[in-house]
Amino acid sequence: MIMTDWKSAIVPVSGGASGIGLAICRQLRSEGARPLPLDFDADQLEKALTTLYPDENCAKFGYLVDVSDSLAVDAAFEKIRRDHGIVTHAVANAGIVWRGNVLDMPEDKWKRVLDVNVNGVLHICRAAARQMTDNGGGAIVTMASIGGILSKPERAAYTTSKAAIVQMTRAFALDFAQLNIRVNCVAPGLVKTSIQQAQAASTEPGFVEALAARAAIKRVGEPEEIANVAVFLLSNLASYITGETVVVDGGLSIHYS
Ligand code: NAD
Repeated sequence: MIMTDWKSAIVPVSGGASGIGLAICRQLRSEGARPLPLDFDADQLEKALTTLYPDENCAKFGYLVDVSDSLAVDAAFEKIRRDHGIVTHAVANAGIVWRGNVLDMPEDKWKRVLDVNVNGVLHICRAAARQMTDNGGGAIVTMASIGGILSKPERAAYTTSKAAIVQMTRAFALDFAQLNIRVNCVAPGLVKTSIQQAQAASTEPGFVEALAARAAIKRVGEPEEIANVAVFLLSNLASYITGETVVVDGGLSIHYS
């Protein structure tokens, strides 16, 4: 087993300015890697960078980009290469939710969710893989949801997009295998982040707590518990795993009781 050389790891993380993405950045940083958050929220990004790189000129570690814009993502990856070197790992984590019955869903909302969640993952994975070929390989993690495996009322666009990510992970793993690049996916259940807070605010009181109580481990997950699995999948400990989706939901989706 060749240990992961985290000290020379250059790791773009989309949606790395908050929640699960930021937890992944923190864990990579504690391993000695150089996580590079890509996010479209300038304020959150600035805050994240000051916590990740408190002793340095932290602005050079963050990239303000909307993942749905393929040219902007390609440009950010070119800048990363110039600023830091060739990317060794990447995390396609940025995602958004739109809640509502599909019958009432405005066309532009449907398209926006698919553009960010599906096309955004394509843009990050493709830009990363193109660079990794110059390095002889690498590892990528995508972020789906148990909503990509099971569905949920009033989440048609979100659950459709997350199911696509599960399948994209398999397809990309096959297309990138000859380049020595592994691609795996994490499918979280309920995790304590701003997406979860928005869900709690938009549903009847107690809904999230009741859903969490249905998990075998009767609570909402912490972002760090998702980050642990993402970092494992990026590492050489997962050297024989590719195209796989790991559900991290405290046992929420293992039963129908
Ligand atoms: P979050 O809102 O805390 O983080 C999402 C981050 O993505 C934010 O920093 C946001 O600014 C960024 N982002 C959104 N759209 C973007 C875009 N177009 N371009 C660049 N950045 C963009 O939410 P989170 O819970 O940490 O979500 C991270 C991922 O985990 C998402 O893909 C989400 O679907 C998935 N997920 C979350 C949960 C949960 O319960 N929190 C469950 C399952 C899956």
